Formats: sequence, structure tokens, C-alpha cells
Amino acid sequence: MLSSQINEFKRVGPQLWRKGDGGHLLIEDSVLKVIGGYRQECHSDLEAGGFLVGFYKGVDLHVINLTVPQSLDKRSRFRFTRKDPKHVSQVTRWYEQSLGKINCLGEWHTHPERLPKPSDIDLHAWQTFNEGRRGQLAIFLIAGISEIWTGG
Ligand SMILES: [Zn+2]
Repeated sequence: MLSSQINEFKRVGPQLWRKGDGGHLLIEDSVLKVIGGYRQECHSDLEAGGFLVGFYKGVDLHVINLTVPQSLDKRSRFRFTRKDPKHVSQVTRWYEQSLGKINCLGEWHTHPERLPKPSDIDLHAWQTFNEGRRGQLAIFLIAGISEIWTGG
């Protein structure tokens, strides 16, 4: 099963999640605020998404920045497809400016449901995302209307 390779993290604080390997995921408040601004609270709100950006400290992850929807992305009520090259070019710029310290850690997107759960499409997309990565596996975040789901 593809889905067995993505495990949900346990939220242990306002900005902190515990991963299955004993490490933690820390997300800066500024990042959570930006994501919170894209929550699909209205029926007309479209899905949003982008990259999660930051660095590794051993088994711990620290998300300090993100990319947000751009004009060439495909957005609908139930789907976000990252198409705009600005996501990659922005992360590449941060990577170079930080001399390789800051990198893409994974992806985020929104769901129009209170308690978000990954769809089969999400699980397949994440599998593909991980296949294209070297080194550490990616983390994934879904922002629902009330709750945030994270895993990796
Ligand atoms: Zn989804």
C-alpha cells in the first residue's frame, strides 16, 4: 500500500508535531499564519498550496518559510496543482542565499473540510514527490478549516 509509507504526526503544541522516529517538526508562527489565511472558510474559497521551506537539525525539522499560490497554479474547490515555476525559483533563490542551509522540506495545501485527511490523490502525489527527492523524505501538511494535518 502506498498510503502505509506516509505516517501522520502527532500535534504536541501550537507549533510542534512529533514524528514517528522521535524527531519533531517545528513550524514558525509566521508560516502558520500565512497558511491560516488560505483556509477555505467560504464556499467560494479555492484550494491553495505551495512548498514548505526550512532546514533539518538531525531528526528534527524546522519550517521557517513557504511559497504561496501563484498565477499559473491550477486551483479549484477540491484541487490544487502546483504549476507555476515561481515556487521552484523562489526555493532555489533561498537555497542559494543561505548557502544550501534552507531547502524545500515538503508541500502544503488546503482542504475544504474541518478535519482534513489526505485523499488517495494526495497519497499518490506525495509518493511521486518523494521518488523525486534525494536524501530525506518530505513532510506534508493539509490545512483544513479547523485543524491541520501533518505527516511524512
Ligand atoms: Zn488534498
